Amino acid sequence: MKSFDALGLSGELVETIRQLGFENPTPIQEKAIPVLLQGNTDLVGLAQTGTGKTAAFGLPLLELVDANNRQTQALVVAPTRELSVQITNDFERFSKNFKPLNIVTVYGGASISDQIKKVKRGAQIIVATPGRLIDLLSRKVVNLSQIQYVVLDEADEMLNMGFKEDIDEILSTTPESKRVWLFSATMPREVRDIASNYMSNPQEIAMEGQKQGNENIDHQYALVDDRDKYLALKRFVDYTPGIFGVVFCRTKMDTQKIAEHLIKDGYNADPLHGDLTQAQRDRVMKSFKNKTLQLLVATDVAARGIDVSNITHVIHMNMPDEMEFYTHRSGRTARAGKKGISLAIISKKELGRIHQVEKSLKRKFTQVAVPTGDEVCQQKIMDLVLKVRSVEINEEEIDSFLPEVYHELKDFSKEDIIKRFASIEFNRFLEYYRDARDLNKSDKSDRKRFFEEGDEPAYSTGDRIFINVGKMDGLDKGSLLGLICDYGETDKSKIGKIDLKGAYSFFEVEKGMADQVMRGFEGVEVRGRKVRLEMSGERPERSDSGRDRGGRSGRSGRSGGGNKRNFSEKKREGFWGGKRKPKRY
Ligand code: AMP
Repeated sequence: MKSFDALGLSGELVETIRQLGFENPTPIQEKAIPVLLQGNTDLVGLAQTGTGKTAAFGLPLLELVDANNRQTQALVVAPTRELSVQITNDFERFSKNFKPLNIVTVYGGASISDQIKKVKRGAQIIVATPGRLIDLLSRKVVNLSQIQYVVLDEADEMLNMGFKEDIDEILSTTPESKRVWLFSATMPREVRDIASNYMSNPQEIAMEGQKQGNENIDHQYALVDDRDKYLALKRFVDYTPGIFGVVFCRTKMDTQKIAEHLIKDGYNADPLHGDLTQAQRDRVMKSFKNKTLQLLVATDVAARGIDVSNITHVIHMNMPDEMEFYTHRSGRTARAGKKGISLAIISKKELGRIHQVEKSLKRKFTQVAVPTGDEVCQQKIMDLVLKVRSVEINEEEIDSFLPEVYHELKDFSKEDIIKRFASIEFNRFLEYYRDARDLNKSDKSDRKRFFEEGDEPAYSTGDRIFINVGKMDGLDKGSLLGLICDYGETDKSKIGKIDLKGAYSFFEVEKGMADQVMRGFEGVEVRGRKVRLEMSGERPERSDSGRDRGGRSGRSGRSGGGNKRNFSEKKREGFWGGKRKPKRY
C-alpha cells in the first residue's frame, strides 16, 4: 500500500488529512488521486459511499483549483442536500491549512437568496444538487463558462431520482475543455451513456470486490410478524444500551409514525424525511452528529450520504427492494474501518429479499432472535451494575451529604440496598416486560414451499395467472411472491406454485382469488410499462411481452443494479419505476 506522500499531493495537504486521522489512502484514493492530479483526464470511478471517494476526488480538486482566481473553476453535483453539505464540509476540512478557497453549497429547500449572495461573493468551487443548480443557472447567478472540472457524485442515484435531463443541461452549459470525473456505486447503461456523451477516453477505476460490500458489517435479520415489528425494534434497542443507530423505513409516513411512537415511549429518537423543513432537518442532523440524538428514523432518500462516525446499528424496518438501497443503508455503519451491525426486522414475506441480498453481496445474513423480556431485563440490570462499577465519585462534594444518607439506610443490609437502588431504574422495565411474549417467528413452516424448487405448491388446484415480469426484472420467487401479496392484498397461504421465467412468470392462486389479485395490480407500472396479469391460457405470444419492454436492449442492460426496477414503492405513491416525478432538492 502506498502512503499519501507517494501520491503526489502537497505536503501541507497530506499533513492536514493526517491530522484528520487519515493515515493511509483507501484503495480508491490510491488509484484515483495520482490520475486526477494530472488534471487532464476524464475519470469513471466505480465506488460506493464509505470507500473514501470524497477525498479521492476532493484532494486532487483542491490541488488543481487556483486560489488566486475568483472564478468558478470546479463544480461538484450530488443527488441530495445532505451529501452536498457533507462534501463541502469535507472540502473545508481538507483545505483549512492548505488554500484559502471559497466553497459554496447550493441545494433546494433552503433560502435561494442566501445562496445567491454567497455565489456572487465568488465561489471557486460550487457543490450543488441538480435542481437548485439549474435554477441558479437560469437566473444567471451561476456561470459555468470557465469551469475546468465537473464531478458527478453518486451518478446512478441522480439518474434514479430522475435528474437525467438536469445533468444533461448542466453539462451542456460547461465548456468543451472541462474534465468530467464521474463516481457511481453501479454502472447501469444510463450512467455509461453520460460517460460516452460527455467524456473522452475516460480512465476507469473499479474497486475490486466492491460489490461484496463492507466486510466490517455484520448482516443480521430477525423474523417476526408484521404487527410485531415495532415491539421487536424496542426490544433490540432496550437490549443494546449503547446503541447509536439509524432506523430505516420505506415511506415518510412510516418514518414519522415510528419516530413519534419511540418518542412517546421515552426513547431518544427523531425522524428525518423529505416532509420536514430544512431547518428541522438541519436540527435533527446536528443532534445526531453530536450524538445527543440516539436513534435517527429516516427514509432512504433523506439519509443518503449521511456520514456520521461510530453508528453501531442500521436497522431496517422493511427490506428495501432495491439492492442499492440496502447497500446505502447498511453503509451508514462500519465506516472508516469500524465494525457495525445491519439488522433487518422482517416478516416472512421478506425472507426472499434477504436471500436475494445474500446472493448479490455474496455474504450470509445471520438470523438473530428478538430478545425475550427476561433477556432484556437481565441486560438492563447488568448495564446498571456496570454503570455503578464505573461511575466516577466526586468524593469531596458528596461527602457532606452522606451522613444523612447513611443514617436513613442504616437498617438495611448491603443486599437490600443493592436491590433497592437497582429497582429504581429497573422497575420500569420489569413492569413493561412482565409476561412479555416471544416475538420470534419460526421460518420453517410455509417458507420452504415458496423458496425451494420442486416443492409441493400450496394450491395445485387454483387458478394459474400470467404476469409480464420475471427474472429479467431482478425478481426471484420470494420477491415475486412478496409483490403478489402486497399488490394483490392477499397472503402467501393463498398463493401456490410460482413459475419464474425470464420476461414473464406464472403463479397459482386459490380458486376465487384471481380477480382480486388481478385488480390489485391495476394501474401499476414499471418504467412506464404496464404490469399485466392474465388468466393463464390467455398468455400472449412472447414477442408481445418483448414489445412491452419498450425495446430495451435485452438482458445485459438489465443485469446492472441501477437498471433494476423499483418494485418496492406502493402503487398509491405512483410508481414502480417510471411514473415517479423527479424529486428536487
Ligand atoms: P466517503 O466514502 O468519502 O463518504 O468516506 C467515508 C468515511 O471515511 C468518511 O468518514 C471519511 O472521513 C473517512 N475516510 C476517507 N478516507 C480515509 C482515509 N484514507 N483514512 C481514514 N478515513 C478515511
